[in-house]
Amino acid sequence: MACESRIEELNFVLVPLLAVSHIIPMVDIAKLLAQRGVIVTLVMTPLNAIRFTAVIDRAIDSGLLIRVLHLRFPAKEAGLPEGCESVDLLPGLAYRRNFFTAIDMLQDQAEKLLQEIQPKPSCIISDMHIAWTAETADKFQIPRIIFDGMSCFNQLCMHNLYIMKDQNRIPESGHFVIPDLPDRIEVTKVQLPGAFNPPPLHVQDFRDKIRAAEISAYGVIINTFAELEENYVDEFRKLKNGRVWCVGPLSLCNNESLDKAQRGNKTSFDEEERLKKWLDSWQPESVVYACLGSLSQTTVVQFVELALGLEASGYPFILVVKSGERQAPIEEWISENKFEERTKERGLLIRGWAPQVVILSHSAIGGFLTHCGWNSSLEGIGAGVPMITWPLFAEQFLNERFLVHVLKTGVSVGSQEVVHFGEEEKYEVQVSKEEMTKAIKEVMDKEKKANNRRIRAKEVGEMAKKAIEEGGSSHLSLTLLIKEVQEFNLTN
Ligand code: UDP
Repeated sequence: MACESRIEELNFVLVPLLAVSHIIPMVDIAKLLAQRGVIVTLVMTPLNAIRFTAVIDRAIDSGLLIRVLHLRFPAKEAGLPEGCESVDLLPGLAYRRNFFTAIDMLQDQAEKLLQEIQPKPSCIISDMHIAWTAETADKFQIPRIIFDGMSCFNQLCMHNLYIMKDQNRIPESGHFVIPDLPDRIEVTKVQLPGAFNPPPLHVQDFRDKIRAAEISAYGVIINTFAELEENYVDEFRKLKNGRVWCVGPLSLCNNESLDKAQRGNKTSFDEEERLKKWLDSWQPESVVYACLGSLSQTTVVQFVELALGLEASGYPFILVVKSGERQAPIEEWISENKFEERTKERGLLIRGWAPQVVILSHSAIGGFLTHCGWNSSLEGIGAGVPMITWPLFAEQFLNERFLVHVLKTGVSVGSQEVVHFGEEEKYEVQVSKEEMTKAIKEVMDKEKKANNRRIRAKEVGEMAKKAIEEGGSSHLSLTLLIKEVQEFNLTN
């Protein structure tokens, strides 16, 4: 009982990066922590908070102690257009520096508000990219635990790549093996994340600050589950003195259908019933779902290859057409070529935002064509669906290596090079429609290899569900995290 009352006095402060795909898992963490009886304070800016109001209000109405601290976003002071409060709303790569400057400016405001809250903060769970939370945690003398939305596999790859970089050992061209990993993982420099393969307009000074704050963090929360990548979890724990908590897949903590449907933006496909009906009309495991995440901005020429590749595969498909500045030329191509009309018997286009977790959990889905963002990858894994992998930028090529070479539930479309986020126009077509079709068929066909992949994906999906249940590894990991923070606060 004494222990329980202590838990009620714990106040976990969560500071997500202002990007929808970073806030989504942080809101899931908020709900999971609050379900265990701790108070959660989410720090956000108004326009970001609005996107999550429905989900958070429902959690609060159900009795969870979650509150949102609103910070004013200093768009003007940082030279950003008004309303650009989120990475996915930036008009272009040129604004990236301004965005990180604005993020840095939030520190004073946040600290003032945190001084006033009761109970006082017990720890900060900060997105890796918010470096100032390191100073804030020092001022409040509380642990800063980072969450960066990557897997342990990825963390280890990055750790070893940083060592290679410091020693000038990353070859400019050709394949090389990332050393000291449980599996043989080959990459090329042009497939690496920005820290090792920077786009021309880099933000190295911000990167260095983020890296320093990452190294000094008390511990790390990972959206994964131990059974998925046991060797990598063990190795990463050794690196971090055991302070690694694997609490995922976070997407599976959403049991309510509304919570699943309203993760992130509101779906533009508001005719939920029509979507359900459409999916219900197909045989189990027959539909390909294609979605490239919240940030990617596919050029029209590359979109055409994707659309034609899906069409030529012969399988029913859902294709998400992201909104944004690229949507107009894409819509023009769709209408001029009557693409929607001629594929209407077996194709469904969703404009804007798809209820991804709802779609993936439908039995009709047989393959997920993904850009390999880690949220999407883990959502596919949790749903037990094999994947067609098309990495685009950031650490997505590493995620692809994990899906294809370690987990063996993915087939690559064969992309060879990062298309730096915001610079898509500079690249030619990276993947042809023939390559798309080939990979889709390989995943969807009924041959032995595809069947084995399907079985494996299902088994891993089952493991994922068990991990988050009471007694499961991720459930236990969250208990240990709360205990650790509780003990820290009792003894410091
Ligand atoms: N997402 C969604 N509907 C969309 C696009 C994205 O629900 O139409 C969600 C998806 O479920 C995932 C997140 O947005 O949770 C994307 O995160 P990820 O790490 O996969 O990629 P990013 O957007 O960061 O590139």
